[in-house]
Amino acid sequence: MKIDVKNLMKRIPGTGDFISVDPEKCIGCGRCTVVCVMNLWLLREGVAQLVEDYQEKCLECAACYSVCEPDAIQFRYPKGGTGIIYEQG
Ligand code: SF4
Ligand code: SF4
Repeated sequence: MKIDVKNLMKRIPGTGDFISVDPEKCIGCGRCTVVCVMNLWLLREGVAQLVEDYQEKCLECAACYSVCEPDAIQFRYPKGGTGIIYEQG
């Protein structure tokens, strides 16, 4: 049986920025680009950056934050009542 993931999720807009990268600390290893299942990271001239609309697509899994060895990524969950909500049927 195929699970319709989109119907299990609801997005509440207005998250504001909740992930950022410090370009001074980024070593361009590309781990964040590999681990993000939503493909929200790009490497530009050896520095990681998020796609512009990441706030609307991010699953808030924090995988990017977890794999970044030099601690270049700052992650916090979106402010209360915004972001992604997983619903169970
Ligand atoms: S995992 Fe961290 S150091 Fe590696 S490319 Fe991404 S932000 Fe840069
Ligand atoms: S929290 Fe997860 S979905 Fe969001 S940018 Fe990081 S790896 Fe991608």
